[in-house]
This record gives sequence, structure tokens and C-alpha cells, in this order.
Amino acid sequence: MIKCENISKIYKTGETEFEVLKQVSFEIKKGEFVAIIGPSGSGKSTLMHILGALDNPTGGKYFFDKQDISELSENQLAEIRSQKIGFVFQSFNLLSRAGVLRNVQLPLIYDYKTPRDKRRKKAEQALNAVGLEKERWHHLSNQLSGGQMQRVAIARALVNEPDLILADEPTGNLDSKTGDIVLETFKELNKKKGHTIILITHEKYVAGHADRVIEIKDGRIISDSRSSNHNGLKEK
Ligand code: ADP
Ligand code: MG
Repeated sequence: MIKCENISKIYKTGETEFEVLKQVSFEIKKGEFVAIIGPSGSGKSTLMHILGALDNPTGGKYFFDKQDISELSENQLAEIRSQKIGFVFQSFNLLSRAGVLRNVQLPLIYDYKTPRDKRRKKAEQALNAVGLEKERWHHLSNQLSGGQMQRVAIARALVNEPDLILADEPTGNLDSKTGDIVLETFKELNKKKGHTIILITHEKYVAGHADRVIEIKDGRIISDSRSSNHNGLKEK
């Protein structure tokens, strides 16, 4: 589903160049649950932006569904971002004064082909998939707890039934118990519904929930390992 070939990313500020990603190569297959772990500043968010077709690498190639992203038009990229990828961020990014159901339907706002009741149905299915209790569906999003907000954000990411879910530090603003509920939600979406999930984190404990862990440091991949159970990570 995803293939990175020698990806590099260089930021220029004035005269100075800073290479954030260096020769990053890996593949991710459909249905995988992968964590990308690394300390703050190691280039994780930069990599997520490239994987989400939100930014271009400086060097190397990025293939999504076998398509070379650099060859696509802005419209084609927008189509991929809206139809094939669901994004989840640390800060939830919900419309605070809009209701839960409305927030979840936001990605469908320009989808004129889908009738209103169908859009609503899709939102309800997504909220069921993340296990948000029905009595919350009519609350405003700023009336929810952090964990509930993040589940609404995950439902919003799911509403278009994307092939890939990209989550950048999704438990970063949550206490550990609430974080566990969110991580269980991802696990279930992966195991029961077959969503491909890439979870970005700086915490080993969080990464331990995934089936495969790619470790990044100073812009380079330093390990890539699979776990057969979640108690310990074994080398491939
Ligand atoms: P992480 O998500 O792992 O914390 P980031 O990808 O956000 O790391 O950032 C990696 C490095 O790149 C950091 O040192 C950051 O300051 C730098 N960086 C990120 N975005 C930019 C930018 N737009 N311009 C210049 N430097 C940037
Ligand atoms: Mg980051």
C-alpha cells in the first residue's frame, strides 16, 4: 500500500539547510498496524506529512497504492487525502461548538453525491465503530472528555472508509487510562475491520500496541521489528 524509497527532506531557513529525513525506505502492506517511534524532533511528523500526501519529499520517491505521488496533480492529491486517508492528530482538531454528529460528517461536506440521510448514516456507523455511547452523539464536542473527543476524531477519520489511518501522537493529550481506550479502538479497527493503521508516537508503551514498530532517530530508520504478541518486540 505504501512504499518509501530513499526519502529525504531538507528544510531551508535562510542560508542553513537542515536534513530532517535521511534515506528513509520501508514498505507497509494493506492491513498492517504499524507504529513509528522516535524521540521528539526525530522527523516523525515530517514523515507523516509525506505519508499523508500533505507534503513532498526533497529526494526519493513515495508510492501510495503503487502511484508515484510526485506525478499527481493537486486535485488528484486532494482526492487521495480525502478519500483514502483518515487523519488523527494529538490535538483532536474538532469544531468545538459543533455537535458530535456534525464533526464526524465534516469530511463529507463537499460530497454532493451522497444524500444527507446517507451521510448521517455513515457518521453513525463510524461512531459505533469507535464505541462512542449513543447518548453523547448530540453533545457539542466541547462537552466531551479528552478520550471521547479523540474517539470522535477517529470516527471523523473513518467516515469516508479510508484505506489508511494516520495518527500523529493520538494519545499525547490523554491520561494513560483514556489513552488505553483509544489504543484499543485502533487495535479493534485494525483486527476487526482490516484498516491499515500507522501510529506515530514517542512512547514505547504506546508503540507496543502495534504489530510492527519502525524506530526513527535523527531522521534515519534504526530498527524495524515485529511482535508476535504485545509483551515483547522481537526482531524480524
Ligand atoms: P517529530 O514529530 O519527531 O518531533 P518533526 O518532524 O516535527 O519531528 O521535526 C523534525 C525537525 O525538523 C525538528 O528539528 C523541527 O524543528 C524541524 N522542522 C519541522 N518542520 C520544519 C519547518 N517547516 N521548517 C524548518 N524546520 C522544521
Ligand atoms: Mg511530531
